[in-house]
Amino acid sequence: MKIIPVIEILKEWSKDYEHPTLRRSSRENNPFKTLISCLLSLRTQDKNTDKTSKALFAVADTPEKILKIPQEKLEKLIFSSGYYKNKAKTIKHVSKVILEEYGGKVPNDLDELMSIKGIGRKTATITRVFGFGEADCIPVDVHVFIIANRLGWVKEKTPEKTEEELMKIVPKEYWFEINTLFVLYGKEICQTQSPFCSKCVISKYCKRVGVVRSR
Ligand code: SF4
Repeated sequence: MKIIPVIEILKEWSKDYEHPTLRRSSRENNPFKTLISCLLSLRTQDKNTDKTSKALFAVADTPEKILKIPQEKLEKLIFSSGYYKNKAKTIKHVSKVILEEYGGKVPNDLDELMSIKGIGRKTATITRVFGFGEADCIPVDVHVFIIANRLGWVKEKTPEKTEEELMKIVPKEYWFEINTLFVLYGKEICQTQSPFCSKCVISKYCKRVGVVRSR
């Protein structure tokens, strides 16, 4: 299994692409904004996450400020992210818990993060890695899950087990990068429904597990 060559090739390939919103949020060193952007990113495209994060943070970028926004206004601000009613409720709830139980500071602990209703493992790991800069876990979204399995690095049925297995085989110095690389690659080349295997820069290392249709 050639893990390091694949990651190095993808690092080179990714230089032509802008990083996804959640990765870019790591530059701000603001775990709360990373967490909220991640909640906005669920089941939507990156451009919508970017747009609605900017719209929301221009008005409110702390738990206190978010709690002061009327529900309808919050829904309008994040409308383009889809599922805006549920997302608005979750964002309010998460802000309330962080303010009331953690003194306004996002807890820097995976279990504590996941104990807050509305925060799952993916959101918790994204917050930990990109918000706190603590790469002691690997955020596994749909792209990481699919590509790791197609490559034959893991043979798992869930993102949680995929993360566990990836942490055993990927050297720790790449844990911060791997989500960004696979998310970009999943959007551009190794697409969910039908990957562009003919254009793939890592095809010689790929077992194409489960690929029934490709371009
Ligand atoms: S060869 Fe195809 S399935 Fe494998 S990583 Fe490349 S695009 Fe994805």
